[in-house]
Amino acid sequence: MDNSTQDPLAWIDHELAALADRGLRRRLATRHGRQGVRIVIDGRELVNFGSNDYLDLAADPRLAEAAAEAAAEESWGSGASPLVCGRSRAHARLEEALARFEGTEDALVFASGFAANAGTIAALVGPGDAVFTDRKNHASLLDGCRLSRADVRAYPHGDSQRLDHLLARAGRDRRRLIVTDGLFSMDGDLAPLGELADVAERHGAMLLVDEAHATGVFGSQGRGTAEHLGVPDRVQVRIGTLSKALGSVGGFVAGRQSLVDWLVNRARPYVFSTAGPPAAAAAASAALEIVRGEPQRRQTLLARAEKLRAELVGRGWNIGRSESQIIPVVLGRAELAVAAAAALRERGLFVPAVRPPTVAEGEAGLRISLSCGHTPEMIDALVECLNELDQIPRRTRPEK
Ligand code: PMP
Repeated sequence: MDNSTQDPLAWIDHELAALADRGLRRRLATRHGRQGVRIVIDGRELVNFGSNDYLDLAADPRLAEAAAEAAAEESWGSGASPLVCGRSRAHARLEEALARFEGTEDALVFASGFAANAGTIAALVGPGDAVFTDRKNHASLLDGCRLSRADVRAYPHGDSQRLDHLLARAGRDRRRLIVTDGLFSMDGDLAPLGELADVAERHGAMLLVDEAHATGVFGSQGRGTAEHLGVPDRVQVRIGTLSKALGSVGGFVAGRQSLVDWLVNRARPYVFSTAGPPAAAAAASAALEIVRGEPQRRQTLLARAEKLRAELVGRGWNIGRSESQIIPVVLGRAELAVAAAAALRERGLFVPAVRPPTVAEGEAGLRISLSCGHTPEMIDALVECLNELDQIPRRTRPEK
């Protein structure tokens, strides 16, 4: 056969067809209008249980006003990497505000949470070092581990004993870094940060916690799971995102001055990527003010989440080990998840199906993501509609 006439990208069509056959092909929908607890997708208004806008701030006019002001004063685009022609004043103010909020010496803003995670890990360990990662960590943490070219040792989800063994076997003569989500993005459970800090201290390892889903939500001041679990000072590298509860976009690292100085010099996504817009930084600063001044948002959210979890369990749904505003409903096969999501959509509810590779094979289901903007009526409607899904078998909660 004459290879020159073959389409070199033809393999993509075959792979896409294979994904579709397994119920795993994803398609983009278009949202019209605002992000919020009500969204219009492909022309239909739905109650939105899919976004990570936990404090209902993405469409808050105070963020839009702060952004508009910064865009007018400091321009929309950032022009270059912050190292090349300076970070904007909006970024400098946000970094100061984040350091105050986190109670750390300094903070550094990246263009995304993904970049913050991947860039920070690769700046902290390298070839010859070892990085220890929870098996359920977010893709950005895992990619950071791979990028670093350190030895990557994955430990079973939340298993601090296994981690302890792995560290005991790793040589002491090189850098060791433990990496974990604080609040796991698919299961909605918390990392055992006290135990992880004990292990880290026993072995002289660094501890990095990604608070992406917990910033603004957990902890008495809303700093995240490290605050909630009483260990903020034992976590040397605290990472968060501005794009979930804070309703903007970007990521940040908070910690001691030398850590931030090191990242400015060595985190490749910081050094080699254009800074996010000043407007996004200004919006995030406005959101931090709201987190400080309106604790009832996170309190309401967590109280409603607790009630919803209890109701789902009471009705026989398997919500795994969720203990947060992220509540999976585990159904099993990907096709079941897709069918359940479609049936809910028919009833006016947007609840995304989560499927491999986002979750492990056999653990597909729905992912309910609660916001403080959801009314009790919206949440009741969700429970009722789930109950009406006769064709979807319920799987009971696994033994703890
Ligand atoms: N960490 C976790 C746990 C996440 O779920 C995500 C995004 N889904 C990120 C980091 C990346 O954050 P961003 O969306 O700001 O890039």
